[in-house]
Amino acid sequence: MSDWESVIGLEIHAQLATVSKIFSGASTAFGAAPNTQACVVDLGMPGVLPVLNHEAVNMAIRFGVAIGAEIDHHSVFARKNYFYPDLPKGYQISQFELPIVGKGHIFISPDEGVSKEVGITRAHLEEDAGKSIHDQFPEQTAIDLNRAGTPLLEIVSEPDMRSAKEAVAYARKIHSLVRYLEICDGNMQEGSFRCDANVSVRRKGDQKLGTRAELKNINSFRFLERAINHEIERQIDLIEDGGKVVQETRLYDSERDETRSMRSKEEANDYRYFPDPDLLPVAISDEDIARIRAALPELPEQKKQRYINDLGLSDYNAELLTSSRDTAIYFETALAAAPELVAQLANWILGDLTGALNKANVEMTAVPIEPAMLAQLVTRIADSTISGKIAKEVFEAMWQGEGSADEIIEARGLKQITDSGAIETLIDEVIAANPEQVAQFRAGKEKVLGFFVGQIMKQSQGKANPGQVNAMLREKLKA
Ligand code: ADP
Ligand code: MG
Repeated sequence: MSDWESVIGLEIHAQLATVSKIFSGASTAFGAAPNTQACVVDLGMPGVLPVLNHEAVNMAIRFGVAIGAEIDHHSVFARKNYFYPDLPKGYQISQFELPIVGKGHIFISPDEGVSKEVGITRAHLEEDAGKSIHDQFPEQTAIDLNRAGTPLLEIVSEPDMRSAKEAVAYARKIHSLVRYLEICDGNMQEGSFRCDANVSVRRKGDQKLGTRAELKNINSFRFLERAINHEIERQIDLIEDGGKVVQETRLYDSERDETRSMRSKEEANDYRYFPDPDLLPVAISDEDIARIRAALPELPEQKKQRYINDLGLSDYNAELLTSSRDTAIYFETALAAAPELVAQLANWILGDLTGALNKANVEMTAVPIEPAMLAQLVTRIADSTISGKIAKEVFEAMWQGEGSADEIIEARGLKQITDSGAIETLIDEVIAANPEQVAQFRAGKEKVLGFFVGQIMKQSQGKANPGQVNAMLREKLKA
């Protein structure tokens, strides 16, 4: 392995979140009954003409501006010709020579403290095809054309990634960015965000790139990492056994965790691209670009810097909190309810909350604990109503839907005991019950202090204020 270097470039298709399709007024909503959302334009009926949806163009420009790319003032739609049952017109309207978005870049952070620039070659607009359905009717394939004509932004990276981990970091960063820009819902299960990975290997030090294979059919970040690692191994084994990698498209089978050949480059289509005569070139003015730039939301990098500079968060925590838009929104909403408790909220969100989400395999958008509820919990620790330990119990109950922190504290009687009289009674009882340990402490064995604290906390069912217990206990034992 160590003699080899892997090279990866990604092509990402992001479905743009427009209300209607890229060249027709039909709805893009997901989940409608099959073939109810394709109009005559999407179906490629004779005599109809496409009309460009300007919102799709605006979204592409928004992406281009966010990655510091050149925006082409003159952009052209081209026909990509091929035959497939889910492509009613016999061609896909795409862009070839003059895409809207030219060269740009983003930074990825595959490991803590590491920052690497990845080039983006281009991003172009195109329409999606329909969907072939193989598992509904035995022996037959069904076609659902609802998706035909849905706008896609195809984002093509430079072959700048050197490991599956970097490729995943890149894909996640693009995913996060399109969500921040509100141009794509990012839903991978529904196919709104799809990745194709181009993978090659070469001996370390070689300047020339190896022959690549393109991996398709990857619908999660976990599979992306697995599919790439798998392909890297396959290519190295192949070359070490005296074979040669052929340029081809391979399908990733997540059930068998393997890739297999779909078509080789020799069988590949000649798409006979030519400018679509039904569509005018898109003219984009400097004013258009300036207007879109001015309306950009705060982007992850700016947000991160603001968290560091204004909120005093660490670089690492700021990076994690801004890595997804939903996490950042959660954090900011919670912070609005408890503005003094920045560090505590960050710790709870990145610790217990993220842990619970991962464990339950739930997305931040479906989290059962509202930001204001978490803010209340953290406030109750800060004002000494409950201890940090009891807070974990309250958090768990909130997760289970038992109500707000205050309601749970009340219902379960979890209020911390801060009344010094009550704490003194507890301490006296424990001291009286354990004369042996008292003698040990007085003989200089400081460690038994922990034993006493443990007993007292147990007696109080975790509710005695630990700071007070510690201070008063020492006094008592010394007396
Ligand atoms: P195509 O037109 O066949 O899709 P492109 O030149 O547009 O080919 O490249 C598609 C993707 O493949 C890009 O993301 C690019 O970075 C990547 N790529 C190109 N050559 C290699 C290679 N040798 N190894 C890995 N990735 C590559
Ligand atoms: Mg390609």
